[in-house]
Amino acid sequence: MTKKVLKFGGTSVGSIERIVHAAKIVKKEHSQGNEIIVVVSAMAGKTNELISQSNSISNKFDKRELDVLLSSGEQVTSALMAGALNELGVKSKSWMNWQIPILTTGHNTNSRIININVENINTYLSEGGVAIIPGFQGISSSGDITTIGRGGSDASAVAIAKIFNTDSCEIYTDVDGVYSTDPNKVPVAKKIDKISYEEMLELASLGARVMQASAIQTAKMYDIPLQVRSTFTDRKGTKIFSEENIDYTKMVTGVAYSKNDAKITLIGVPDKPGVAADIFEPLDKNQINVDMVIQNVSSDGKTTDLTFTVKRNDFNKTLNTINSNKKIKFKNLSHNDKVSKISIVGAGMVTTPGVTFKTFRALADENINILAISTSEIKLSVIISEDDTLKAVKKLHTTFDLD
Ligand code: ADP
Ligand code: ASP
Ligand code: MG
Repeated sequence: MTKKVLKFGGTSVGSIERIVHAAKIVKKEHSQGNEIIVVVSAMAGKTNELISQSNSISNKFDKRELDVLLSSGEQVTSALMAGALNELGVKSKSWMNWQIPILTTGHNTNSRIININVENINTYLSEGGVAIIPGFQGISSSGDITTIGRGGSDASAVAIAKIFNTDSCEIYTDVDGVYSTDPNKVPVAKKIDKISYEEMLELASLGARVMQASAIQTAKMYDIPLQVRSTFTDRKGTKIFSEENIDYTKMVTGVAYSKNDAKITLIGVPDKPGVAADIFEPLDKNQINVDMVIQNVSSDGKTTDLTFTVKRNDFNKTLNTINSNKKIKFKNLSHNDKVSKISIVGAGMVTTPGVTFKTFRALADENINILAISTSEIKLSVIISEDDTLKAVKKLHTTFDLD
């Protein structure tokens, strides 16, 4: 007997009709003799709606209460999914996070699943029932309801696949797989049949929303192969698994982008040891994650310019931290919070030279100015003006033969 996790994202359970449609997929899988655990997201848009309701009470809404509120979205779809399955003649039951329980560690709104009690659900599966588990949430050791970060139902599905030791983990969504870039923005994007955990992790962390990055990290760590596929078509999806199984003929596998970056430049910083540490230490203390850092060569041997990027929602906090830092000196500060990060990702980059110059040439041809650059073995990211985002994505997509 095969045990499967089927995870349905927000659009896939976005209306009653869609829940019934998803339930029919579950019924089909179940009737083929598989043991099925279903993980559901909240209806599309629900989590955002709940967040904005909390914000209209206070923009410092208590995080414990926020988690109680946000977890309700998945509670609704769990019950509706179980009800829809019962209606289709399939024995099914939903469990809330605390009933299972799904144990998490970490802070409210940013917790991590560490254990799940499998006993009751396994008994139910062996009796022929389909178990429905709400994604995105758990309960802390002190008994508080927690959530595990936006897009977290993916991470729930992977954790459940691991802890229940299932044979497969299928991510049902509104596109029929992982594409070379967002197919809703760049229609010539191509579906990728197979992709390594490493490449998928880079794409996801660099903005490809189709899978949540921390879910991929867990899948990679425990070697849990994933399949991303469509709720709305029967087409074959994308397999995400370990690298050995993949043949790299292309230099670049995909292009990702994010529009939540901001850039800060300190002009005329003294060029001597310890200065960078004095700048970045207080940022770290304030839990501001610095992404890219570029230091110019000092032309006069005395001062230099230092550019770095942070997430846009840390932008004001960063400026305040820099301006109140008594230890550092600089002549001027310039900033731009309307920048985006475009990244090309490909394991093939390791063995093929020329990616860097081709990227620069391609962007230059489109008259796009590069504000910052960072590279690793399998990715290259550039910061550009936000207005040029799609133009750059399309150009790089064509340049690297992905259309
Ligand atoms: P779900 O609600 O099912 O979790 P998401 O909205 O989180 O779905 O993710 C699916 C969306 O991800 C797609 O609708 C698509 O617009 C977007 N997306 C971004 N990059 C990619 C990519 N490289 N391949 C496929 N989809 C992508
Ligand atoms: N509902 C949550 C969110 O919108 C979790 C998820 O859908 O994966 O972030
Ligand atoms: Mg998602």
